[in-house]
Amino acid sequence: RTQAQEQNIVVTGAARGIGRAIAALYAERGARVLSVDLTLPPTLKGQGRVRADVSSPAGRERIMRAARELGSVDVLIHNAAYQDAHGSVLEVSERGWARTLNVNLTAPLLLTRALIDLMPQGGAVVNVASVQGLFAEQDNAAYTASKGGLVNLTRAMALDLAPRGLRVNAVAPGAISTEGLLAGIEQSDDPPATRRDYEDLHALRRLGTPQEVAQVVYFLGSAEASFMTGAIVPVDGGMTASFMMAGRPV
Ligand code: NAD
Repeated sequence: RTQAQEQNIVVTGAARGIGRAIAALYAERGARVLSVDLTLPPTLKGQGRVRADVSSPAGRERIMRAARELGSVDVLIHNAAYQDAHGSVLEVSERGWARTLNVNLTAPLLLTRALIDLMPQGGAVVNVASVQGLFAEQDNAAYTASKGGLVNLTRAMALDLAPRGLRVNAVAPGAISTEGLLAGIEQSDDPPATRRDYEDLHALRRLGTPQEVAQVVYFLGSAEASFMTGAIVPVDGGMTASFMMAGRPV
């Protein structure tokens, strides 16, 4: 199963942003893609889509039924995330904390279990983590904890699923020019300055694109990465190469 055209893919959070770019890349390369989202993802030619909340048992049941119709799941990509529970460790609401952990950490675990019997030897799971899973961000305790959990869950999954012939890896993107991030920049007091601040977090001094993340996800899901499992791959323009932000002199 080296070629995308032989592969069936399930990708969560595929209505927009990085998830949509992942679904589009696989579709372009001939894979059969099942796109999952809370809102219906845009239709890709000849591709399936499911409206489902990955954090609910009923949602996972719907995804499982649709995946059974595909017959197998060669690559499962956990990309959906809840990113709205901002606040420090003293401020974040219990409700926001629970929703963040449920969607970003528990759902990848439970959805993997739900689909595991459809995953053949040689299959792969790719988790979309974040640089915020490698280092903490101030005033964003829930998201940071959920992505840190997902990073180590990736390693646990790699160990526990290896006997089944499955590989599990994660990407840790830096700031990516998704609709969501760009809207956040536009809503700030000084959009050009805010954009520059984001850009300057990276050694390459720019934002990444959703396609640049999708390409690495694609690689990790492919037989080209056949000896990679339990790896966390930064796709961050060098943000985490330095102990200071992008090695910028202070
Ligand atoms: P986004 O918010 O633009 O899109 C996420 C999609 O997931 C949305 O379409 C949303 O409806 C869907 N979703 C959310 N909760 C869901 C649920 N419970 N069930 C099903 N679908 C759900 O996000 P994005 O910026 O494209 O990010 C995608 C992934 O990349 C996330 O895991 C995010 O944490 C990660 N990430 C993003 C960036 C960035 O700069 N954009 C950086 C690092 C990591």
